[in-house]
Amino acid sequence: MAADCFALDGHKLFWHLDRVAAWQKDRLVPPIYVEISPLSYCNHQCIFCGLDFIRGERVILETEVLLRRIEEMAALGVKSVMFAGEGEPLLHPDLPLIAARAKEAGIDVSVTTNGMSGTTELWEKLLPSLTWIRFSIDAATSETYQVVHGVKPGAFQRTIASLKEAMLAKQRQKLPVTVGVQFLMIRQNLQDIEPALSLYSGIGVDYLSFKPYSEHPQMLNKSGFTYTREMIDDIALKIERFGTSGPTRIIFRKAATDAYAESAQKFSHCRALPFWGYISSRGDFYSCSVYINDERFSVGNIYQTRMSEILFGDKRGESIDFAEKELEIDHECRVNCRMARINEFLEFLDDKPEHINFI
Ligand code: SF4
Repeated sequence: MAADCFALDGHKLFWHLDRVAAWQKDRLVPPIYVEISPLSYCNHQCIFCGLDFIRGERVILETEVLLRRIEEMAALGVKSVMFAGEGEPLLHPDLPLIAARAKEAGIDVSVTTNGMSGTTELWEKLLPSLTWIRFSIDAATSETYQVVHGVKPGAFQRTIASLKEAMLAKQRQKLPVTVGVQFLMIRQNLQDIEPALSLYSGIGVDYLSFKPYSEHPQMLNKSGFTYTREMIDDIALKIERFGTSGPTRIIFRKAATDAYAESAQKFSHCRALPFWGYISSRGDFYSCSVYINDERFSVGNIYQTRMSEILFGDKRGESIDFAEKELEIDHECRVNCRMARINEFLEFLDDKPEHINFI
């Protein structure tokens, strides 16, 4: 099986062709995947955080409302949720319960976390409900971690202890959950790439992925960092030298890194919004997570409105239509956004050639 068996550097719409066919007939279809931000606050201050512009008030999603909306989403055809977003999801006290109920409803559940506040007890409760969990660590030494995650000395040791506890909980309960580590590459941590390969393979995580930085259009702490051809070749060489055939899959998201370095979108319109969505810590449903606080993408609120009305409502339809027909992606959107590969695929699909029956 390929090192990138999760297609992190690609997309998976090929396996949802029924939803794609429904979209070809009627642009308004239920999302396949929804990101949920259980709360607005974080215990780290990452220097690359794309959501630093919404820091401030502490808001937490009410469990009962969220549980109802998750069950409604499952009934409407949402297939997966990821808990991540504006704050650190492990800080929501009901996360294990919410994840368990989502799984019971038939939705695949995942979490992206900095992992630091994980404990044996938490992992024992949470991991059985998850398809995968991703620890965003982005460093292999305490010194780099302090710089990149804006944390105090000792934080790195706590995070590594938590990661090891998660691996033990997975082994004890013989869980199928995939435990991965993400390393977002920026100028301040490139020297940790080789140590990271040894450290996380040694811990035995299921995968270690190297992901490119991507500047959020609204973020306050913009660094302007990008990759040179030499940098990309050097990262690829380090990974090749380490080897990719061990039990820990090593995934270098090279296609995404190349695309970010080239800094040009390979599609002209956004057609991806029907396939995903984002629920903010205030309960607002956005048709794209990049546009938090932007009315053009805010299509309902889960405290006031049922999911059927949000997902099939006029506002979502208008937002999807706006993104496809009017949004100037080159000027407004995040380069290499989460939906870039999907948009490339959908553009290809919409650009119907002549004589299609001559396959
Ligand atoms: S292209 Fe723009 S609107 Fe579409 S998903 Fe990406 S950032 Fe959002």
